[in-house]
Amino acid sequence: MNQHQVISPSHEAAIAVDEVLRGEFGLVGPIPLHAPKFDASDKEFVNACLDEGWVSTAGHFVDEFEALIARACGVKHAIATTNGTSALHAALHCIGVTEDDAVLCPALTFIATANAISYTGAAPIFLDSSIADLGIDLEKLSHFLEMECTHLNAQTWHKKTGRPIKAIVPVHVFGHACDLHALTDICRNWNIAIIEDAAEALGSSFDGRPCGGFGTAATLSFNGNKPATTGGGGAIVTNDESLAKRLKHVTTTAKLPHAWHYDHDEIGFNYRLPSLNAALGIAQMRKLETIIESKRKIATAYESRLSQLADITWVSEPAKCRSNYWLNAIILPNAEQRDMFLELTNSRAIQTRPCWTLIPNTAAYRDAIQAPDLTHARMLESRLVNLPSSPWMLPSQTGQ
Ligand SMILES: *Cc1c(COP(=O)(O)O)cnc(C)c1O
Repeated sequence: MNQHQVISPSHEAAIAVDEVLRGEFGLVGPIPLHAPKFDASDKEFVNACLDEGWVSTAGHFVDEFEALIARACGVKHAIATTNGTSALHAALHCIGVTEDDAVLCPALTFIATANAISYTGAAPIFLDSSIADLGIDLEKLSHFLEMECTHLNAQTWHKKTGRPIKAIVPVHVFGHACDLHALTDICRNWNIAIIEDAAEALGSSFDGRPCGGFGTAATLSFNGNKPATTGGGGAIVTNDESLAKRLKHVTTTAKLPHAWHYDHDEIGFNYRLPSLNAALGIAQMRKLETIIESKRKIATAYESRLSQLADITWVSEPAKCRSNYWLNAIILPNAEQRDMFLELTNSRAIQTRPCWTLIPNTAAYRDAIQAPDLTHARMLESRLVNLPSSPWMLPSQTGQ
């Protein structure tokens, strides 16, 4: 007879997470999913901006912030914007996505990915996820293109709607890069532009190259819950100089340069990031590598406990990827265990969260086009949870 008390996978996982956070890291009180902590350098830059009095748009803080972003992503140009959603909208708009087009994206992502596509008037088409890297499943993408599309006049057409597929927006979910080499090969064959949604992947790399440098352009977010934050903010990065110029122009009301005369040569957007936010961004970018190192140590601490548990899947960085581990994640055996884990941890003031609702399952997108098979995305939607991942949680950083 088995003398051991049988405990469920959700209990085992909750105990392991508690041991890491409250035991190993010595954290007390409520533990948020992901929260920033600011230090003297953050305050110094924000104060410098206040002292100068130029808190609004333009100026050297924005230029410096953009230079640091471009360097971190290994690209030539960065354009700061109000947030990651506006960055994605501007990027799609400026590569020529219109209401006649379709744009591919994963079903499992934050709503911003799909909303930005919708703002251009284009139809998003939702694809399944890869279990290995949580991004778009590339085998299924190829299958979708073979079965549901035709290639004609150097464009790929979605047969059912007659729309050209102008672009794909891959998402590096929780900081884990998708296979950018394989994706690039597929998109080259089918003439589909890649706009990387790297909102969660600042500081991550694939095959030794930073995420954000693989597509025609990529977008970042500096929202309060992201690895580096400006309160709210975003950026578009690209190596294409003429695209960069047009992005800057269109995101700053398309005003023609003149000392006092107001003229605009197209309907632009006011998507520019205020200096005050950019000043904070400079301080954050200067310590980006320290932030990523802390986040990777936290992931290692979780991994050493959670990967031991037979019924739990630890979500590890995929092959060739050095992940920023924006949000750590595990997969429970089923939805009931997932719910029990959420109960157990949140009742101990450890903030954990399920994955997003699949976008085509939200009311906003219920009539949207989706790939026939979303099995992997559905599995992740019902079984994956995110764990507290703030970079300051390590004992050396909490001052305890
Ligand atoms: C955070 C995020 C964005 C952008 O969000 P903003 O709040 O607009 O900065 C876009 N896509 C994904 C996948 C994100 O996680």
